[in-house]
Amino acid sequence: MATTDSFISNAANLQKYLSLDQKGSIMAEYIWIDSELQVRSKVRTLKAKEGGYSPSDLPIWNFDGSSTGQAPGDNSDVYLKPVAVFPDPFMLGDNILVLSECWNADGTPNKFNARHEAAKLMELHAAHEPWFGLEQEYTLLGLSDKPYGWPVNGYPAPQGPYYCGVGGGKVVMRDIVIAHYKACLYAGIKISGTNAEVMPAQWEFQVGPCLGIEQGDHLWIARYLLARVAEEFGAKVSFEPKPIPGDWNGAGLHTNFSTKEMREEGGMKHIEAAIEKLSKRHSEHIAVYGKGNEARLTGRHETGSIDSFSYGVANRGASVRIPREVAAKNYGYFEDRRPASNADPYLITGIIMETCFGPADK
Ligand code: ADP
Ligand code: MN
Ligand code: MN
Ligand code: MN
Ligand code: MN
Repeated sequence: MATTDSFISNAANLQKYLSLDQKGSIMAEYIWIDSELQVRSKVRTLKAKEGGYSPSDLPIWNFDGSSTGQAPGDNSDVYLKPVAVFPDPFMLGDNILVLSECWNADGTPNKFNARHEAAKLMELHAAHEPWFGLEQEYTLLGLSDKPYGWPVNGYPAPQGPYYCGVGGGKVVMRDIVIAHYKACLYAGIKISGTNAEVMPAQWEFQVGPCLGIEQGDHLWIARYLLARVAEEFGAKVSFEPKPIPGDWNGAGLHTNFSTKEMREEGGMKHIEAAIEKLSKRHSEHIAVYGKGNEARLTGRHETGSIDSFSYGVANRGASVRIPREVAAKNYGYFEDRRPASNADPYLITGIIMETCFGPADK
Protein backbone atom coordinates (compact mmCIF):
# COMPACT_ATOMS: atom_id res chain seq x y z
CA MET A 1 0.00 0.00 0.00
CA ALA A 2 1.26 3.47 -0.82
CA THR A 3 1.89 5.67 2.17
CA THR A 4 1.34 9.38 2.31
CA ASP A 5 2.69 12.34 4.26
CA SER A 6 -0.70 14.06 4.24
CA PHE A 7 -2.19 14.37 7.69
CA ILE A 8 -5.50 15.71 8.96
CA SER A 9 -5.31 17.62 12.21
CA ASN A 10 -8.29 18.37 14.43
CA ALA A 11 -6.48 21.19 16.20
CA ALA A 12 -9.36 23.60 15.72
CA ASN A 13 -11.84 21.21 17.34
CA LEU A 14 -9.47 20.56 20.22
CA GLN A 15 -9.36 24.27 21.11
CA LYS A 16 -12.78 24.37 22.78
CA TYR A 17 -11.90 21.47 25.08
CA LEU A 18 -8.56 22.98 26.10
CA SER A 19 -10.39 25.91 27.67
CA LEU A 20 -12.76 23.78 29.78
CA ASP A 21 -12.53 24.28 33.55
CA GLN A 22 -10.64 21.46 35.30
CA LYS A 23 -12.53 21.91 38.60
CA GLY A 24 -9.51 22.00 40.90
CA SER A 25 -7.57 19.18 39.27
CA ILE A 26 -4.45 19.25 37.13
CA MET A 27 -2.94 16.89 34.60
CA ALA A 28 0.63 15.78 35.33
CA GLU A 29 2.42 14.26 32.35
CA TYR A 30 5.19 12.00 33.70
CA ILE A 31 8.01 11.73 31.15
CA TRP A 32 10.86 9.22 31.15
CA ILE A 33 13.59 7.82 28.91
CA ASP A 34 13.25 4.25 27.62
CA SER A 35 15.74 1.56 26.60
CA GLU A 36 16.03 2.98 23.05
CA LEU A 37 16.63 6.52 24.31
CA GLN A 38 13.16 7.54 23.22
CA VAL A 39 10.86 9.52 25.49
CA ARG A 40 7.72 7.92 26.91
CA SER A 41 5.01 9.56 28.94
CA LYS A 42 1.71 9.00 30.69
CA VAL A 43 -0.71 11.29 32.46
CA ARG A 44 -2.33 11.32 35.87
CA THR A 45 -4.69 13.63 37.70
CA LEU A 46 -3.52 15.50 40.80
CA LYS A 47 -5.23 18.05 43.01
CA ALA A 48 -4.22 21.57 42.04
CA LYS A 49 -1.70 22.89 44.57
CA GLU A 50 -1.28 26.46 45.78
CA GLY A 51 2.06 27.74 44.45
CA GLY A 52 2.45 24.74 42.14
CA TYR A 53 4.30 21.47 42.53
CA SER A 54 8.02 20.90 43.01
CA PRO A 55 9.55 17.44 42.42
CA SER A 56 9.55 16.48 46.11
CA ASP A 57 5.79 17.15 46.43
CA LEU A 58 4.95 14.82 43.56
CA PRO A 59 4.05 11.17 44.07
CA ILE A 60 6.37 8.43 42.86
CA TRP A 61 4.57 6.50 40.12
CA ASN A 62 5.32 3.38 38.09
CA PHE A 63 4.91 1.79 34.69
CA ASP A 64 5.18 -1.58 32.98
CA GLY A 65 8.89 -1.83 32.18
CA SER A 66 8.41 -5.04 30.20
CA SER A 67 6.60 -2.98 27.54
CA THR A 68 9.48 -0.51 27.15
CA GLY A 69 12.50 -2.86 27.26
CA GLN A 70 13.32 -1.66 30.77
CA ALA A 71 12.41 -4.69 32.92
CA PRO A 72 11.68 -8.43 32.60
CA GLY A 73 8.03 -9.54 32.36
CA ASP A 74 8.15 -11.42 35.66
CA ASN A 75 9.30 -8.34 37.59
CA SER A 76 8.03 -5.56 35.42
CA ASP A 77 7.34 -2.59 37.70
CA VAL A 78 9.68 0.34 37.15
CA TYR A 79 9.29 3.37 39.42
CA LEU A 80 9.11 6.94 38.23
CA LYS A 81 10.80 9.39 40.56
CA PRO A 82 9.99 13.02 39.74
CA VAL A 83 13.14 15.17 39.35
CA ALA A 84 12.04 18.31 37.50
CA VAL A 85 8.75 20.09 36.78
CA PHE A 86 7.84 22.32 33.82
CA PRO A 87 4.65 24.16 32.79
CA ASP A 88 2.87 22.17 30.09
CA PRO A 89 2.72 24.18 26.83
CA PHE A 90 0.08 21.87 25.34
CA MET A 91 -2.42 21.64 28.20
CA LEU A 92 -1.71 25.13 29.55
CA GLY A 93 -3.13 26.38 32.87
CA ASP A 94 -1.66 24.68 35.95
CA ASN A 95 -0.94 21.47 34.06
CA ILE A 96 2.62 20.22 34.29
CA LEU A 97 5.31 18.08 32.68
CA VAL A 98 7.14 15.91 35.19
CA LEU A 99 10.58 14.66 34.16
CA SER A 100 11.21 11.42 36.04
CA GLU A 101 14.12 9.06 36.75
CA CYS A 102 13.54 5.31 36.39
CA TRP A 103 14.23 3.12 39.44
CA ASN A 104 13.97 -0.64 39.87
CA ALA A 105 11.83 -2.32 42.53
CA ASP A 106 14.98 -3.32 44.49
CA GLY A 107 15.98 0.33 44.99
CA THR A 108 18.72 0.42 42.33
CA PRO A 109 18.68 2.89 39.42
CA ASN A 110 17.28 1.37 36.22
CA LYS A 111 19.91 0.47 33.60
CA PHE A 112 18.69 3.34 31.39
CA ASN A 113 18.70 5.91 34.20
CA ALA A 114 21.92 7.72 33.28
CA ARG A 115 20.78 10.80 35.17
CA HIS A 116 21.44 9.35 38.61
CA GLU A 117 25.20 8.88 38.02
CA ALA A 118 25.52 12.20 36.17
CA ALA A 119 23.82 14.04 39.05
CA LYS A 120 26.34 12.54 41.50
CA LEU A 121 29.25 13.79 39.37
CA MET A 122 27.70 17.25 39.04
CA GLU A 123 27.23 17.48 42.78
CA LEU A 124 30.72 16.24 43.65
CA HIS A 125 32.35 18.76 41.29
CA ALA A 126 29.85 21.59 41.77
CA ALA A 127 32.58 24.02 42.87
CA HIS A 128 33.76 24.20 39.23
CA GLU A 129 30.34 25.55 38.21
CA PRO A 130 30.14 23.51 34.98
CA TRP A 131 28.16 25.08 32.16
CA PHE A 132 27.03 23.12 29.14
CA GLY A 133 25.46 24.24 25.87
CA LEU A 134 24.22 21.49 23.56
CA GLU A 135 23.44 21.86 19.85
CA GLN A 136 20.76 19.33 19.01
CA GLU A 137 20.65 18.48 15.30
CA TYR A 138 17.75 16.41 13.98
CA THR A 139 16.00 15.46 10.77
CA LEU A 140 12.29 15.77 10.09
CA LEU A 141 10.81 12.78 8.30
CA GLY A 142 7.49 12.38 6.59
CA LEU A 143 5.29 9.56 7.88
CA SER A 144 6.78 7.38 5.12
CA ASP A 145 10.24 7.83 6.72
CA LYS A 146 11.80 9.91 3.94
CA PRO A 147 13.24 13.32 4.92
CA TYR A 148 10.33 15.74 4.78
CA GLY A 149 9.91 17.46 1.43
CA TRP A 150 12.43 15.27 -0.42
CA PRO A 151 11.35 14.15 -3.88
CA VAL A 152 9.54 10.79 -3.96
CA ASN A 153 12.20 9.47 -6.34
CA GLY A 154 15.81 10.58 -6.18
CA TYR A 155 17.44 13.34 -4.19
CA PRO A 156 17.27 17.11 -3.73
CA ALA A 157 19.92 19.29 -5.35
CA PRO A 158 23.31 19.03 -3.59
CA GLN A 159 23.97 20.71 -0.25
CA GLY A 160 24.82 24.39 -0.24
CA PRO A 161 21.67 26.54 -0.16
CA TYR A 162 20.01 24.85 2.82
CA TYR A 163 22.14 25.81 5.88
CA CYS A 164 20.39 28.79 7.54
CA GLY A 165 18.33 28.83 4.34
CA VAL A 166 15.36 31.08 3.75
CA GLY A 167 12.62 30.43 1.22
CA GLY A 168 10.72 27.73 -0.61
CA GLY A 169 12.85 24.85 -1.85
CA LYS A 170 15.49 25.57 0.80
CA VAL A 171 13.77 24.75 4.08
CA VAL A 172 10.77 22.65 5.08
CA MET A 173 8.51 22.57 8.11
CA ARG A 174 9.61 25.85 9.62
CA ASP A 175 6.24 25.86 11.39
CA ILE A 176 7.37 22.89 13.50
CA VAL A 177 10.57 24.72 14.39
CA ILE A 178 8.71 27.87 15.43
CA ALA A 179 6.08 25.95 17.41
CA HIS A 180 8.82 24.00 19.19
CA TYR A 181 10.74 27.17 20.05
CA LYS A 182 7.63 28.78 21.54
CA ALA A 183 6.75 25.62 23.46
CA CYS A 184 10.28 25.51 24.93
CA LEU A 185 10.11 29.15 26.02
CA TYR A 186 6.71 28.60 27.63
CA ALA A 187 8.00 25.55 29.51
CA GLY A 188 11.03 27.47 30.79
CA ILE A 189 13.55 25.47 28.77
CA LYS A 190 16.80 27.39 28.29
CA ILE A 191 16.62 27.16 24.50
CA SER A 192 19.21 29.57 23.11
CA GLY A 193 18.65 29.44 19.36
CA THR A 194 17.77 27.50 16.24
CA ASN A 195 18.89 27.22 12.61
CA ALA A 196 18.26 25.24 9.46
CA GLU A 197 21.05 22.74 8.83
CA VAL A 198 23.22 21.71 5.87
CA MET A 199 21.07 18.79 4.71
CA PRO A 200 17.53 19.69 3.64
CA ALA A 201 14.94 18.73 6.32
CA GLN A 202 17.68 18.91 8.95
CA TRP A 203 17.44 21.49 11.72
CA GLU A 204 19.21 22.38 14.94
CA PHE A 205 18.24 23.95 18.23
CA GLN A 206 20.59 24.88 21.05
CA VAL A 207 19.95 24.53 24.78
CA GLY A 208 22.22 26.32 27.24
CA PRO A 209 24.28 27.42 28.88
CA CYS A 210 22.86 25.29 31.67
CA LEU A 211 24.45 24.53 35.03
CA GLY A 212 25.34 20.87 35.65
CA ILE A 213 22.48 18.37 35.60
CA GLU A 214 20.06 21.01 34.32
CA GLN A 215 21.56 20.51 30.84
CA GLY A 216 20.35 16.94 30.51
CA ASP A 217 16.99 17.81 32.05
CA HIS A 218 16.32 20.69 29.70
CA LEU A 219 17.54 18.86 26.61
CA TRP A 220 15.37 15.82 27.31
CA ILE A 221 12.27 18.00 27.79
CA ALA A 222 13.16 19.91 24.61
CA ARG A 223 13.32 16.56 22.76
CA TYR A 224 9.97 15.58 24.25
CA LEU A 225 8.41 18.88 23.14
CA LEU A 226 9.82 18.43 19.63
CA ALA A 227 8.34 14.94 19.35
CA ARG A 228 4.95 16.23 20.53
CA VAL A 229 4.94 19.21 18.16
CA ALA A 230 6.03 17.08 15.20
CA GLU A 231 3.29 14.57 16.05
CA GLU A 232 0.71 17.34 15.70
CA PHE A 233 2.13 18.45 12.35
CA GLY A 234 2.27 14.94 10.93
CA ALA A 235 6.05 14.56 10.90
CA LYS A 236 8.54 12.27 12.62
CA VAL A 237 11.72 13.36 14.34
CA SER A 238 14.85 11.36 13.60
CA PHE A 239 17.95 11.64 15.79
CA GLU A 240 19.90 9.23 13.55
CA PRO A 241 23.54 10.41 13.29
CA LYS A 242 23.71 9.61 9.56
CA PRO A 243 20.14 9.45 8.28
CA ILE A 244 21.12 9.46 4.58
CA PRO A 245 24.33 7.80 3.42
CA GLY A 246 26.64 9.55 0.99
CA ASP A 247 27.26 13.24 0.48
CA TRP A 248 24.72 14.39 3.05
CA ASN A 249 25.67 15.82 6.43
CA GLY A 250 25.13 13.72 9.53
CA ALA A 251 23.54 15.00 12.72
CA GLY A 252 25.43 15.74 15.92
CA LEU A 253 24.98 16.98 19.45
CA HIS A 254 27.94 19.35 19.76
CA THR A 255 28.67 19.89 23.43
CA ASN A 256 30.02 23.25 24.54
CA PHE A 257 31.59 23.20 27.97
CA SER A 258 33.17 25.60 30.44
CA THR A 259 33.96 25.85 34.11
CA LYS A 260 34.25 28.88 36.35
CA GLU A 261 38.06 28.78 35.93
CA MET A 262 37.82 28.61 32.11
CA ARG A 263 35.46 31.60 32.02
CA GLU A 264 37.84 33.83 33.99
CA GLU A 265 40.61 35.99 32.53
CA GLY A 266 43.46 33.69 31.39
CA GLY A 267 41.13 30.68 31.51
CA MET A 268 42.70 29.20 28.36
CA LYS A 269 45.15 27.17 30.42
CA HIS A 270 42.20 25.40 32.07
CA ILE A 271 40.64 24.80 28.64
CA GLU A 272 43.91 23.29 27.43
CA ALA A 273 44.24 21.11 30.53
CA ALA A 274 40.70 19.75 30.01
CA ILE A 275 41.37 19.02 26.32
CA GLU A 276 44.57 17.20 27.28
CA LYS A 277 42.53 14.98 29.63
CA LEU A 278 39.88 14.37 26.96
CA SER A 279 42.57 13.31 24.49
CA LYS A 280 43.58 10.44 26.79
CA ARG A 281 40.08 8.97 27.05
CA HIS A 282 38.89 9.25 23.44
CA SER A 283 37.48 5.73 23.15
CA GLU A 284 35.70 5.90 26.53
CA HIS A 285 33.94 9.05 25.34
CA ILE A 286 33.11 7.63 21.92
CA ALA A 287 31.52 4.63 23.67
CA VAL A 288 28.82 6.87 25.19
CA TYR A 289 28.58 9.47 22.42
CA GLY A 290 25.77 7.73 20.51
CA LYS A 291 24.95 4.64 18.48
CA GLY A 292 25.92 4.56 14.80
CA ASN A 293 28.31 7.49 15.24
CA GLU A 294 30.95 5.71 13.11
CA ALA A 295 28.85 6.45 10.02
CA ARG A 296 29.00 10.16 10.90
CA LEU A 297 32.54 10.69 12.29
CA THR A 298 34.34 10.04 9.03
CA GLY A 299 36.60 13.09 8.95
CA ARG A 300 34.34 14.55 6.25
CA HIS A 301 31.22 16.74 6.43
CA GLU A 302 32.63 18.89 9.25
CA THR A 303 33.58 16.01 11.54
CA GLY A 304 36.74 14.53 13.00
CA SER A 305 37.69 10.87 12.69
CA ILE A 306 36.16 8.37 15.10
CA ASP A 307 39.55 6.64 15.59
CA SER A 308 41.66 9.50 16.80
CA PHE A 309 41.40 12.63 18.90
CA SER A 310 42.26 16.01 17.48
CA TYR A 311 41.64 19.64 18.39
CA GLY A 312 42.15 23.05 16.94
CA VAL A 313 41.13 26.69 16.93
CA ALA A 314 38.11 27.26 14.64
CA ASN A 315 38.61 23.77 13.17
CA ARG A 316 35.28 22.08 12.39
CA GLY A 317 37.10 18.97 11.19
CA ALA A 318 38.51 18.28 14.69
CA SER A 319 37.11 16.32 17.64
CA VAL A 320 37.29 19.45 19.79
CA ARG A 321 37.11 23.02 18.56
CA ILE A 322 38.21 26.13 20.41
CA PRO A 323 36.11 28.98 19.00
CA ARG A 324 38.19 31.74 17.35
CA GLU A 325 36.76 34.34 19.72
CA VAL A 326 37.74 32.25 22.75
CA ALA A 327 41.32 31.94 21.48
CA ALA A 328 41.45 35.70 20.92
CA LYS A 329 40.18 36.52 24.43
CA ASN A 330 42.22 33.73 26.04
CA TYR A 331 39.26 32.50 28.10
CA GLY A 332 35.76 31.05 27.57
CA TYR A 333 34.74 27.53 26.56
CA PHE A 334 35.39 24.72 24.09
CA GLU A 335 33.21 22.57 21.86
CA ASP A 336 33.31 18.76 21.86
CA ARG A 337 32.03 17.98 18.35
CA ARG A 338 32.04 14.19 18.71
CA PRO A 339 28.63 13.40 20.29
CA ALA A 340 26.01 12.10 17.86
CA SER A 341 22.51 13.54 17.73
CA ASN A 342 21.07 10.42 19.40
CA ALA A 343 23.39 10.45 22.43
CA ASP A 344 22.10 10.74 25.99
CA PRO A 345 23.05 14.21 27.31
CA TYR A 346 23.40 12.79 30.84
CA LEU A 347 26.11 10.41 29.61
CA ILE A 348 27.90 13.16 27.67
CA THR A 349 27.91 15.73 30.45
CA GLY A 350 28.66 13.04 33.04
CA ILE A 351 31.74 11.65 31.30
CA ILE A 352 33.11 15.14 30.63
CA MET A 353 32.97 15.83 34.37
CA GLU A 354 34.48 12.44 35.17
CA THR A 355 37.35 12.89 32.72
CA CYS A 356 38.12 16.43 33.81
CA PHE A 357 37.66 16.06 37.57
CA GLY A 358 37.56 12.37 38.51
CA PRO A 359 34.96 9.66 39.11
CA ALA A 360 32.08 9.98 41.56
CA ASP A 361 33.10 7.09 43.80
CA LYS A 362 36.44 8.64 44.82
P1 ADP B 1 28.17 26.67 16.55
O1 ADP B 1 28.95 27.85 16.11
O2 ADP B 1 29.07 25.52 16.91
O3 ADP B 1 27.08 26.29 15.60
P2 ADP B 1 25.99 27.43 18.39
O4 ADP B 1 25.77 28.89 18.39
O5 ADP B 1 25.03 26.59 17.63
O6 ADP B 1 27.52 27.14 17.96
O7 ADP B 1 25.96 26.88 19.89
C1 ADP B 1 26.82 27.36 20.86
C2 ADP B 1 26.36 26.85 22.21
O8 ADP B 1 27.37 27.14 23.16
C3 ADP B 1 25.08 27.47 22.73
O9 ADP B 1 24.22 26.46 23.21
C4 ADP B 1 25.55 28.33 23.90
O10 ADP B 1 24.60 28.39 24.92
C5 ADP B 1 26.77 27.56 24.36
N1 ADP B 1 27.73 28.35 25.13
C6 ADP B 1 28.07 29.65 24.96
N2 ADP B 1 28.96 30.03 25.90
C7 ADP B 1 29.19 28.95 26.68
C8 ADP B 1 30.01 28.71 27.82
N3 ADP B 1 30.80 29.66 28.36
N4 ADP B 1 29.99 27.47 28.37
C9 ADP B 1 29.23 26.50 27.83
N5 ADP B 1 28.43 26.67 26.78
C10 ADP B 1 28.41 27.88 26.20
MN1 MN C 1 -3.05 -0.85 32.18
MN1 MN D 1 25.33 25.20 16.01
MN1 MN E 1 24.98 22.41 13.44
MN1 MN F 1 28.71 23.45 16.82
